[in-house]
Amino acid sequence: MENFEALSAQFGVPLADVTMIALNAHGVCANNGLGRARCMIAPDAAQGRVFRTIVATNRVDSRFDIDGDRLLLDGSSIGRASKIEHDDARLGYFRDGQRILTLNTNARSHCTGCVFCPNTGSDASDPKVDTATDELRNWLSLMCQREGIADLSRVEQVNLSTSCFGDEQAAIEHLRFLRRELNALGFRGRLGILSSVIRSRAGFDKVVHEVGPFALFLTLECVTRRDLWLKESKASLGTLAALDLLRQARSAGCSTGVTLVVGLDLIEDVCAWLSEALPELTEFPNLQVYQVHSRFMQAAGAMGIQPIRWFLEARIALENCLRPFRAQLRPEHWQNYRPFWYTQYLGEDLCSPGTVMFSQQAAAP
Ligand code: SF4
Repeated sequence: MENFEALSAQFGVPLADVTMIALNAHGVCANNGLGRARCMIAPDAAQGRVFRTIVATNRVDSRFDIDGDRLLLDGSSIGRASKIEHDDARLGYFRDGQRILTLNTNARSHCTGCVFCPNTGSDASDPKVDTATDELRNWLSLMCQREGIADLSRVEQVNLSTSCFGDEQAAIEHLRFLRRELNALGFRGRLGILSSVIRSRAGFDKVVHEVGPFALFLTLECVTRRDLWLKESKASLGTLAALDLLRQARSAGCSTGVTLVVGLDLIEDVCAWLSEALPELTEFPNLQVYQVHSRFMQAAGAMGIQPIRWFLEARIALENCLRPFRAQLRPEHWQNYRPFWYTQYLGEDLCSPGTVMFSQQAAAP
């Protein structure tokens, strides 16, 4: 059984970060959230800090559990858990206060096929939006009312979280639709897409000119065994082609990021690819702890029999890759609910207003 305090001392990683990485990796025994839950976790090891996370639940062999508002490790309380709810796919929600809006307007929940993806186990309230009507505009207006804001003029980024378009043209068409509907409600910020479906220079030129300012978050996910892990439409993008795609997006004027699920590949392979990609990125890469939802997923991962040790070694290897870019790229809590960094990054304190507890609760990061 891995001893988190000993690992914290050995790797020089704060205990709170070790605890949160382990919680992400193992999930919790309790079945709050029916297989997958959003929640706020305030580890005792990070006094005064609270982190939004999404964890696998009903993991009966996990050492973590939730009992009422207590987070337990091996039966002992190690922090507080709050706002626990089933992680269903929603049409949209805010991050970082009301600065960033995530949208699932193309029925993300209908997308299946990648081995590690929890979509199939989640409920959904993200129906495909009818782009021929005012349905989305009306929904956005209602959301503004609910949030107590007049319009979307103060929102800095809207990010579309979906990959189910099938082809580049359909994705660009949907982005055009979104830009029109969002602008009608005062939005003037950056529109982004988490996807790998836009692949041509002509496509990037089109989105920059027609829906820009624009950001591409390339959903690469893994760099080896792509045929094994990913649905065919994603696996068809090779890792060299992915580098070229990022270069093309940059030279067309897009902001660029990438998502990788760390645990699907040997860490040397991830770092080798990432080192090539980093000069092309304007955003901190979204590096997610691989979350295991079943014994099969555990066996298929690269972590071996001491997963937390593996993830800490991975964190250090990733930091070494990222170090030359520390002035430009820094993790932000709102970007990633399964990150490697919570209270410290490259030996420096990492804090954002949304993670500071002013009372018993804090705003969601
Ligand atoms: S493309 Fe994305 S949303 Fe669809 S199954 Fe794969 S990981 Fe899940």
